[in-house]
Amino acid sequence: MSKKVVVIGSGFAGISCATQLAKDGYEVTILEKNESAGGRCSMFQEQGFTYDMGPSWYWMPDVFENYFNSFGKKPSDYYDLMRLDPSYRIYFDKDDVMDIPASLQELYELFESLEKGSSKNLKKFLDDAQYKYTKGMGEFVEKPSLSITEFTDISLIPVAYKLQLFTSVATHVASLFKNDKIKKILEFPVYFLGALPKDTPALYTLMNYADLALGTWYPQGGMYKIIEGMTALATEMGVKFLYNEEVKNIEINGTQAVSVQTDKNTYHFDAIVAGADYHHIEQKVLPATHRKYDEKYWNERTMAPSSLIFYLGIDKKIDGLLHHNLFFDKSFEKFGDEIYTNPKWPDEPLFYVCCPSVSDDTVAPEGKENLFILIPVAPDLEDTEQTREHYFHHVMERLESLTGQEIKNHIIYKKSFAHKDFKDRYHAYKGNAYGLANTLSQTAVFKPSLKNDKIKNLYYTGQLTVPGPGVPPSLISGKIVAKLLKKEIKN
Ligand SMILES: Cc1cc2nc3c(=O)[nH]c(=O)nc-3n(C[C@H](O)[C@H](O)[C@H](O)COP(=O)(O)OP(=O)(O)OC[C@H]3O[C@@H](n4cnc5c(N)ncnc54)[C@H](O)[C@@H]3O)c2cc1C
Repeated sequence: MSKKVVVIGSGFAGISCATQLAKDGYEVTILEKNESAGGRCSMFQEQGFTYDMGPSWYWMPDVFENYFNSFGKKPSDYYDLMRLDPSYRIYFDKDDVMDIPASLQELYELFESLEKGSSKNLKKFLDDAQYKYTKGMGEFVEKPSLSITEFTDISLIPVAYKLQLFTSVATHVASLFKNDKIKKILEFPVYFLGALPKDTPALYTLMNYADLALGTWYPQGGMYKIIEGMTALATEMGVKFLYNEEVKNIEINGTQAVSVQTDKNTYHFDAIVAGADYHHIEQKVLPATHRKYDEKYWNERTMAPSSLIFYLGIDKKIDGLLHHNLFFDKSFEKFGDEIYTNPKWPDEPLFYVCCPSVSDDTVAPEGKENLFILIPVAPDLEDTEQTREHYFHHVMERLESLTGQEIKNHIIYKKSFAHKDFKDRYHAYKGNAYGLANTLSQTAVFKPSLKNDKIKNLYYTGQLTVPGPGVPPSLISGKIVAKLLKKEIKN
């Protein structure tokens, strides 16, 4: 008889974990509260537009390649990838627009034009970042981080030093570059995703290697094609997906979880993997006696930002936009302060516009444009319709002025999404979009643990635990947990 595993949630981490277990003969069922798979990478269609609801940047293609390869497959068995060139556009001002080229040679030339001698430093910066990427994504990222002893191997000490765990991104960047625009190009990935560059270990410049060297890719049809590919593969491996099944309670007997209850059914199992938001499972689903962390612990975590998002359908083509566009026409420092240091709705936010219909004519009707506008904002803010509308008009004015055209009057579809929706749709703690901030005190063993000592057969996976937020780390998180579970609960 195969061992039975229930996985809560069908995000990247849940599907990844379920598929690896099913491949090894476990009988796996995924219980998902929503109507379809994907979690934060959900999709919806309206009036001929196809909207990816969450992730839009396909970075670290090697992680996806490795994922599918481990089942004898390739991403191209499920979706067609194209590399975007230029990778993205940055608006520093109306007449100050910069495209980040896919070619490294062109990137060196661009840096040199901004600051004399900077191409040499960029080479050094990227060599360091490549080392961090190779070591970090190779030797460190797949550690379950259950104990500090996993990292005390003497041979890892020089590696840890070179990974720059104790230098900040801001210090590292400032030691090599003076130009303000260069600093923005190199700091935006951590700014938008995790924490202030001064609070983020320089280890995370591995993301610059992913950005500038490995490139920005796009699966034709949208990011949801990855989820469709993963669910097809999971089903092929024998994973059963049950939708509209919200787990309300986990029943515990001694140190073993024995069953879960949804509105519809009770499911028994040998092991359970919680791929839903960690805080939700701990504080709302587990009995109070069996929680590993209390509410105070969670309240003291530094969360990554939430987002205010607008999904728009435009009845014409828009000039001046690439697939990915960053609007850096206002102060980074003030914006960072309003997200991380003194959290509040920002006065003049930086924002991001994704226009996938630039490179994919399947996501919008002919002659029309699909826009996804994202404003990173602090988690746990009061989210009202009036606030959303205020930012909608604010961002529209800036977008129209910076790109020099009328857009607002051409909107034929509009939907917004913010804190309340993150909580309702994903049970997101404080309405977070990307889990926990990437600070040193929330890295590896300092993250909420994959295991709960009080319940031997309960495992956690996903962006709130190891290794962290983002699609590639979530895929890896599922893999780490599957490996651990297979070791502890043999089939
Ligand atoms: C707006 C946005 C933009 C992003 N952009 C990028 C990007 O460009 N590139 C990138 O790499 N990453 C990006 N990310 C981050 C990335 O999407 C996430 O890190 C990743 O998708 C998280 O996956 P997960 O499996 O950990 O969690 P989730 O995707 O949240 O999956 C958890 C699942 O659990 C389900 N669930 C919750 N409670 C229950 C319950 N009680 N019972 C049953 N099911 C339950 C939820 O419905 C959900 O399906 C973005 C995220 C957001 C929100």
